Amino acid sequence: MAKVSAIRCAQYDDGKLDALMDGHFGHLGIGDGGLAVDGRRVFIKANLLKKSTPDEACVTHPRYVGALARALMSRGASVTVGDSPGGDFSASHLRRVYKGSGYEEVAAEFGFGLSYDTSVTTVGTGPTYKVTKAVLDSDLVVSAAKLKTHALMTYTGAVKNMFGAVPGLTKAQHHMKNRKAFASMLVDVCEAVRPHASFIDGIWGMEGNGPSGGTLRRMDVSVASLSPYAADAAAMALIGLGTGDVPYMAEAAARGLCPALGELEVMPEGFEAMVGAFGVRDYAMPETRMVSLRTVRGFLPERLRRLFGGGARTCPVVARDRCVGCGDCADICPASAVRVMGGAADIETRGCISCFCCHEVCPAKAIDIVPVGKLRKRAAKVGKDG
Ligand code: SF4
Ligand code: SF4
Repeated sequence: MAKVSAIRCAQYDDGKLDALMDGHFGHLGIGDGGLAVDGRRVFIKANLLKKSTPDEACVTHPRYVGALARALMSRGASVTVGDSPGGDFSASHLRRVYKGSGYEEVAAEFGFGLSYDTSVTTVGTGPTYKVTKAVLDSDLVVSAAKLKTHALMTYTGAVKNMFGAVPGLTKAQHHMKNRKAFASMLVDVCEAVRPHASFIDGIWGMEGNGPSGGTLRRMDVSVASLSPYAADAAAMALIGLGTGDVPYMAEAAARGLCPALGELEVMPEGFEAMVGAFGVRDYAMPETRMVSLRTVRGFLPERLRRLFGGGARTCPVVARDRCVGCGDCADICPASAVRVMGGAADIETRGCISCFCCHEVCPAKAIDIVPVGKLRKRAAKVGKDG
């Protein structure tokens, strides 16, 4: 059985968060038999996808991470927090993201370190991957994820959070893979980094077109486990997703890494009680996932996918009235399908591989996700009207 701790917490209030972490640590035996932390150097891998204020629910809330750091430090660990956000992997970009996301302030207040180490190393047997050295230069790695939907993978939590160990713009190149290969790579990276414990901040989650362009969803729950797969399986069950709905969880299950729901030992009151207390039936999924058949399509070879799924393909479209012309989408696009002209971005749909990296990094929420069929109708209408 894989132990999972699911605890109610309705606010990012320091006292409540301290009690929350004590609860999780007690359930999982962290600092007390389940996972020794005394005298150990811990790297907390937060989800810092991009500079984003905590109330936008795009990044793991800094006070949640602060409470986790405090709980570890009070048990004798030294703590460094970090991530490799989307874009340039440099100390100056890290500083901007830490500051703009509230981490700098919380780190100074609580006395934990922030990582500015931008050195890179290679991991993996068989396929190898470049990852940030800072994550591996520790005794223990802890995943501090955010409960969110994800346009490409449907859901992101503890396992997908480890993709942040891949440095900056290198991430976008991995999106050139097909969906199944990308999912497989996510599991490879998670296995290479192997977080010793995983926490999912679901107090406020993100639904709809996550992981950065969605809308806030209050869930009042925090989920933790020593297994990232068990933590994700439990969190996904709360928003109505099974392993077959999320390509990398399907891959993890196929490799025997992901426990079945019946194998989860959920504390304090069991799986059914957790779902009864926190489960929702109407968590909005990304527009990229309208019917479950789409997920199945992700595992079909490209030619068959086109045959069966062409009409359901979705694409990013720039809303020119919201675009501020920053060029972040063009910088990250692995297919070079974006150009910025006349102060706004333009996406060449034919060259686009629908990886949604542009959608993730856009600071202005100026990129919508639209079914290709609608796009064609829209273009035809413009042609007619124009
Ligand atoms: S334009 Fe297409 S290929 Fe480029 S980042 Fe956006 S979704 Fe990916
Ligand atoms: S679409 Fe977004 S990321 Fe791209 S240039 Fe406009 S504001 Fe910047």
